[in-house]
Amino acid sequence: MFLIKEIEFIDYNENEVIMINLINGATDIIERNVYNLIINNRFNEIDDEILSCMLERRYLFNSKKEYDGFLEKLDNRIEMLEKRATPNFLVVPSYACNLHCIYCYEQTYMIKGTTNIDSIKMVDIQFDKIDKIMKVYEDNYGRTNDDIRITIMGGEPLLKCNLKTVEYIFEQAKKRNYTIDIVSNGVDLNYYIDLFNKYKNTLDHIQITVDGVKEIHDKRRIFHDGRGSFDLIMENIKLAIKNNILIILRVNVDDTNINELPDLANVLVKEFNNSEKLKPYLYLLQDGGCSGEQNIVNEKIGIEKIFELEEQNPNMAIFRKKFHPENFIESIFNDEPYQPVLRHCGAAKNQFILDCKSNVYKCWHGIGNNDYRVGIFYPKYELNDEKINAWFNRNVKVIPKCKDCKYRYICGTGCPAAKHMSDDNMDIKGPSCVNYDELIKTIILEKMKKF
Ligand code: SF4
Ligand code: SF4
Repeated sequence: MFLIKEIEFIDYNENEVIMINLINGATDIIERNVYNLIINNRFNEIDDEILSCMLERRYLFNSKKEYDGFLEKLDNRIEMLEKRATPNFLVVPSYACNLHCIYCYEQTYMIKGTTNIDSIKMVDIQFDKIDKIMKVYEDNYGRTNDDIRITIMGGEPLLKCNLKTVEYIFEQAKKRNYTIDIVSNGVDLNYYIDLFNKYKNTLDHIQITVDGVKEIHDKRRIFHDGRGSFDLIMENIKLAIKNNILIILRVNVDDTNINELPDLANVLVKEFNNSEKLKPYLYLLQDGGCSGEQNIVNEKIGIEKIFELEEQNPNMAIFRKKFHPENFIESIFNDEPYQPVLRHCGAAKNQFILDCKSNVYKCWHGIGNNDYRVGIFYPKYELNDEKINAWFNRNVKVIPKCKDCKYRYICGTGCPAAKHMSDDNMDIKGPSCVNYDELIKTIILEKMKKF
């Protein structure tokens, strides 16, 4: 018998241990005496029924050869799926912004404002490149009926002065049957309601950040003259929801707002009455951007704190928690199959970012930063093969430390930008580890309290 190394054992109580398969998410509670037999490879002393269950759920293989063959097939299958992953595109109509948030890393970059090229013409050029990329994809993998998504971001894309450009992006997307989502600060959203109503079937959602109740938010997400933006943003969120527009509300969490999250939860429940058009989530900041590292909360400590706050205030359940192993753990508790990964995110797959200055990027973090661009698309279309391939090849089969890591099918090499928001030394060839051991244990044990 061969026991896979991709297993997490978690002490559940005196008599029981939780056993998790880190490849497929199979999870079982076993008696401690069985656990002791398993970790000491004394399989001939284990009950036949348990053994056959362990084989079926792929904790165990009949031999190392069988395990190696299984992994080879699995890796090939994931590689094929990730190579032909549905392309997604981000377009940046302008780098201008009406806010001056304290942690915004884009402020460190020198690319500001719009381009010399007429912004409507630039949308045509961007969509021309998107068509070319789609053509290559379709030639290689056939036509796709999958949802092709265009994300509009900035700077702040929904500035009042961008209205015509954004409308033209919607027109072009609709023509191709693509879906749009938008990352916005929400300040000028009221000027866009008619447009969104006109393109209801093209717009999927708008993501807006609110960092806490008014007193907290207004210290962080401020106008250039120092005024806070909370009241305006909340009014615009209400307006959007009234018009049936889905708002994904992001809360950037650090040491300065974590304790006030229950207050924000209360405000959201009171104002929006658990509307299905409002989906708030918590994101524990990994990097402080321009504001430095002093307020970053260690993820494990942050997770424990958030669970503790939820115990005291059930309204905290309104927040989805985007912790690192979230997809994996959700698949366990929702009893859904887990899709293992070799790559961390779209940057290492078919994601392309086209800005208003004719730059191409792969990673969101690199937007506006010359060091991270992988090519240009105007006046000629020229991609830097070395840089593009560095992104495509960033997977757990290539990075030596990841090859042997038991969390690789959950992590997929990690996000190289997460720890480098405020510097220029992002190393995309190296691993970007997260302490999955600690995080998985903490979240599973917290969730089991309610299970
Ligand atoms: S910031 Fe990280 S997760 Fe986001 S696109 Fe870049 S590499 Fe991927
Ligand atoms: S980045 Fe670190 S945690 Fe992630 S797969 Fe690689 S070695 Fe494992």
